[in-house]
Amino acid sequence: MKLISANWKMNMTPSQTKEYLYNFLPLVEDVKDREILLCVPYTSLCIASEMLKDKHVKFGAQNVHYEPKGAFTGEISVSMLKDLGVSYVIVGHSERRWLFGESDEIINKKLIACLGSGIRPILCVGERQDEREAGLTFKVIETQVKLALSSLEDYTDMIDIAYEPVWAIGSGNPATPEDAQKVHRFIKELLESLNKNYKGTTRILYGGSVNIHNASEFMKMPDIDGLLVGGASLDPEAFSQIVKSF
Ligand code: PEP
Repeated sequence: MKLISANWKMNMTPSQTKEYLYNFLPLVEDVKDREILLCVPYTSLCIASEMLKDKHVKFGAQNVHYEPKGAFTGEISVSMLKDLGVSYVIVGHSERRWLFGESDEIINKKLIACLGSGIRPILCVGERQDEREAGLTFKVIETQVKLALSSLEDYTDMIDIAYEPVWAIGSGNPATPEDAQKVHRFIKELLESLNKNYKGTTRILYGGSVNIHNASEFMKMPDIDGLLVGGASLDPEAFSQIVKSF
């Protein structure tokens, strides 16, 4: 099933989350042929857990720590998320990589922590503007995917991947659907080469300035299996239109 996910980033208080869900749920009530996911801040997970109980809209976190518990002040573990009913977690978002210094090694540890927990990670990869201009897009994507999945090659079916070119995030300048398609195809071929038993269940989402006007164009591409939407997901009406755009 296609996956359309919101990434609210550091937006929405718990009260605003309540209001959003109150408005959003009726708008997508009949949409059952695609997965709808809201990746909310940690502080909104409780209210999402309450309001989405027994609903078809799922909720996820935007980050997780790789240790199971202990002296890691300010961090949140996989089991804490699991206990709230979290289904997905974003791992390695470019803002975590570039603003918070998250390395490929840390991202790999986070994926290891998620696998087997029942929480499905969405691994984010993407090249920066300078890397794109230097013709390094495919090389960067290959390196990020390989390092993130290091020692996990047999489990590639248990994750989803978001291709999010860093230059397209929040810039109003998305990749063209055709360019994104080429990278998505490349990632699928890479997964096939890494895991000889690969079943092809990893969805490759596109993220980066998706909005109500361009969402359907991305979803026409054969290897674009869903979307990760930042800014445009903050308005329930706009996000519901993106969910229903294809
Ligand atoms: C994101 O941060 O995951 C994202 C895709 O942001 P935006 O849609 O705002 O570009």
